[in-house]
Amino acid sequence: MGGGVLVLGNIVFDTPVRPVDELRWNATVWVESMEQSLGGNGANTAYAAAILGVPVRLLGYAGRDAAAGFCLGQLSGAGVDTSMVVRSASPTAASIAIVNSAGARALLHRPGVSLEAFPEPPEFTPELIRGCHWFHLANAYGLPLVRPQAGEILRRARAAGLSTAVDTGWDSAGEWMKVLEPCLPHCDLLFANQDEARRLSGTADEDAAARLFLRLGARRVVVKLGAAGCAVFGPEGEFRSPAFPVGVVDTTGAGDSFAGGFLAALSRGLSFPDAARVANAAGALSVSRLGSVAGLRPWDETLEWMEAARDRTP
Ligand code: ADP
Repeated sequence: MGGGVLVLGNIVFDTPVRPVDELRWNATVWVESMEQSLGGNGANTAYAAAILGVPVRLLGYAGRDAAAGFCLGQLSGAGVDTSMVVRSASPTAASIAIVNSAGARALLHRPGVSLEAFPEPPEFTPELIRGCHWFHLANAYGLPLVRPQAGEILRRARAAGLSTAVDTGWDSAGEWMKVLEPCLPHCDLLFANQDEARRLSGTADEDAAARLFLRLGARRVVVKLGAAGCAVFGPEGEFRSPAFPVGVVDTTGAGDSFAGGFLAALSRGLSFPDAARVANAAGALSVSRLGSVAGLRPWDETLEWMEAARDRTP
């Protein structure tokens, strides 16, 4: 195995509620399910890579409340090293995800401790990076204090000898390239979904967007294409990898599961095309269940599921 993954990102206590097709004030809507689940790009991605059997350490912030107990318990249960998670008196970040019967979601988010996370870039000490080959910034825009230092964090990670990955995420503050551009010269692997790639680059298609990111310094670019799988662009050229057909229950966390799957497969020594297939499988398993990571399976079961899916596909 090629070493583990150090993930930096937010940890969120999620409550997905489904199905909700209409909200009415002064009335009660009865729903089928309302379960606590792990959320946040950092936590989801760390969980996904760990459940696939690679060593993972998470750098993040959590409160000292019951929500933190739940999230850190889920992460430790999957094998994530949470010993570097900073605990604070502020509440753990929390979201209520309202999911409709088609699987689309509307989020209500209380950032809590995320507002304090990482006032300074982390020191990539030997203790912090022990056993890790990859550093992954799980969302360039997710933590307000990380945004202006994202490029510097990646520069330091690389200087410490790590390979670096970034998932852009959606920038609700609208700064886009201002935050991402300083990251690109220090980025070995960039993940973006189709909407993010287009919005960031101002281009209509993901191929043009990926070429721009490569020109600005990213070594490889992976564009997530939802039900169409993904496209990978790099020094050897580009390829597409189709998605696995599944029934969609909840799309929350698909991209994080995808990135965790990609990094886990690379850490296990797989090629980029094979890692893209594993990532598509992790994304498909994620959307097939309510919650971000509940559908994910351990490595061997994921490979078996992929085999069976191939047999099912004509
Ligand atoms: P994000 O969640 O970051 O917006 P996507 O929606 O593209 O990103 O989903 C990430 C990955 O999850 C996709 O690249 C694909 O592998 C998988 N995925 C997402 N939606 C589906 C779907 N409807 N069917 C199968 N796989 C899916």
